[in-house]
Amino acid sequence: MVTQNAGVTPGTLYVVATPIGHLGDLSSRALEVLGAVDLIAAEDTRHTRGLLTHFGIQKPLIPLHEHNEARQMQMLIARLQAGAAIALVSDAGTPLISDPGYGLVAAAAAAGVVISPIPGPCAAIAALSVSGLPTDRFVFEGFLPPRRPARRTRLQQLARERRTLIFYESPRRLVEVLADCVEVLGGERKACLGRELTKRFETVYRGTLADVQSVLTTHSDALRGECVLLVAGAVASATEDAAGNADAERILADLVAQLPASQVARLMDRWFGGGRAHWYQRAIALRAAVDL
Ligand code: SAM
Repeated sequence: MVTQNAGVTPGTLYVVATPIGHLGDLSSRALEVLGAVDLIAAEDTRHTRGLLTHFGIQKPLIPLHEHNEARQMQMLIARLQAGAAIALVSDAGTPLISDPGYGLVAAAAAAGVVISPIPGPCAAIAALSVSGLPTDRFVFEGFLPPRRPARRTRLQQLARERRTLIFYESPRRLVEVLADCVEVLGGERKACLGRELTKRFETVYRGTLADVQSVLTTHSDALRGECVLLVAGAVASATEDAAGNADAERILADLVAQLPASQVARLMDRWFGGGRAHWYQRAIALRAAVDL
């Protein structure tokens, strides 16, 4: 049955982010959409039922997880094409981000279904936003391979990556993952471990990879709960910098001495590319270093 509900458009698939801890993080728009759709596709229907009950919402739920996605998505797309409004949720955070839903969204897009995001919590972005590491460019790596040889190979492939690295990790593997990171990427790299974000025992550890590794041995709490590990990108070698960026660096320094950071960013982006946000952060950092 298709209902005409205020707040949602018939035939639309809504990809709805839900809290990663604090229930207050469910947006009012997410609540409105969850309360108005015809059907909710959920990673774990029991988990989502608990969330909906907390907010006084009753809706038909159907399971959509990695083991049944291929089967369920045909049925969901047929329902969407018949005019149903459907929400997709996962257990926590943004669906598809290390969570089920990619198959459904890709197939719905191919079938011409309208897909609308209801954005909200995402552990990777929450951790990045408080890490103190560069945010102008970053790479989301999801979970590293659970087995050591494959994990070390992946880390070696990432060793020269300049952008901030973001990993999801299970607390059970944290000690061995940190040991591999220190060995492959070097203990002096800046890092951040965000655990239990938005929850009662939220903790953010910042320092070098070696510092974070030693926190794990001294604070047993650090090994409990959900966590995101962030590692600063590789610093370019002096030779790489000299070859590639000498002109840009000289001009950046000249501009920073004369213009506000926003204008510096606009000009540098126009001349050298790379995005205004990148140059804005560089200008702020350079000015702070000069003012010291
Ligand atoms: N879709 C989710 C998102 O948008 O963040 C991620 C789901 S993934 C299966 C679960 C992983 O996300 C956890 O193992 C952990 O690495 C991270 N995570 C989820 N909630 C978290 C929290 N409150 N604090 C820190 N990390 C969290």
